[in-house]
Amino acid sequence: MNTIKVDGAAGLGIYCHIPFCLKKCAYCDFSSFSGLSEEVIRNYFEALHKEIKNFAKENNSSVPAVDTIYFGGGTPSAVDAGYIETTLALLKEVFVISDDAEITIEINPGTLTGDKASRYKKAGINRASVGLQAWQDFLLKILGRIHSQADFIKTMEILKSAGFENFSVDVMVGLPGQKLADVMETLQALMAFSPTHLSSYSLILEPGTPMANWVEAGQLDLPDEDEEREMHWAVDGFLKEQGFKHYEISSYCRPGYESRHNVKYWELVPYLGFGLGAHGFYNGRRYGNANELNQYCELLNAGKAPGVLEPVMETRDMMSEWMFLGLRKLDGIRDDAFTERFGESFFGQYGNVINPLIAEGLLAWDGSVLKLTPRGQDFGNRIFMAFV
Ligand code: SF4
Repeated sequence: MNTIKVDGAAGLGIYCHIPFCLKKCAYCDFSSFSGLSEEVIRNYFEALHKEIKNFAKENNSSVPAVDTIYFGGGTPSAVDAGYIETTLALLKEVFVISDDAEITIEINPGTLTGDKASRYKKAGINRASVGLQAWQDFLLKILGRIHSQADFIKTMEILKSAGFENFSVDVMVGLPGQKLADVMETLQALMAFSPTHLSSYSLILEPGTPMANWVEAGQLDLPDEDEEREMHWAVDGFLKEQGFKHYEISSYCRPGYESRHNVKYWELVPYLGFGLGAHGFYNGRRYGNANELNQYCELLNAGKAPGVLEPVMETRDMMSEWMFLGLRKLDGIRDDAFTERFGESFFGQYGNVINPLIAEGLLAWDGSVLKLTPRGQDFGNRIFMAFV
């Protein structure tokens, strides 16, 4: 039974963080843990459920209907399916969820069984995001992934037999020892599984991770920046040829299969983040949850909020985020949409930033839309930072 009224505003997104993995990958600095006992996992879900219920109690009116839910991690598919079922059932109990809501779960090969997949489907999950990263076993080993190519193939078979048709696959470029031919082989192999969405990320070396230490010690060599960009453009060319749309700097989809959840992040649409280290944006304020596992659980057990609320966002900050998050979308940003939201043209606020970037050939302006040029994609971070 739904207990929260809808105020008719834009659909709300919900992110739930599941911070457990079977083993920590060599490049990972996400909020995730391996080797924890079932008791710790059970306590975590109890705390997560408390957080969801507390939010519902404190906001018992005017919460918009939810139209996207995203179980991310960590590895949500690594825990007992019962935890995902009860969490989703709770969300359905305390929020109004639209009938056509996009409900995604992240799955890592080597953790999915037929039983889990069919229980996800029955619970209402209708989209899977699978972390392949690379087709070649030698690269998966370097990354410290638990899975092999054969595990990925099995995962896809399980998903298909459970009736999942809408799924995304994550791949990585710029890996140690990776060649352009490996990237192309990965993409070609993937086409046989007909994904609706692909995310292609460049490896980022996070300080303190084993991989960063190995590279620093000269034990692993990364492709240089030119090779990494060559890989990116090869991915781009191949996927476009296959009918995919490049809609966000790292994201490609079949027409109509954009990640509706992620689009909310780039369009400053409100979303709630529940769980360890989760972030949210609600009522014009951002918040971030505690990212230490014991602290998160203890705060909730003591009846306290696990997050720190930032002050209501100033218009100036909102404008800045609207610009640099929006420019991640390859379709760009419309000046009339900016004017509608903020009452003035973005050239009024950012002409001194935009015009030089246009002159440099990094942004393109057609009289109504501002977007990254292909060259601009290679300098994404520099461009985004210019609006901060
Ligand atoms: S599966 Fe993902 S979250 Fe888990 S350790 Fe590996 S990279 Fe990190």
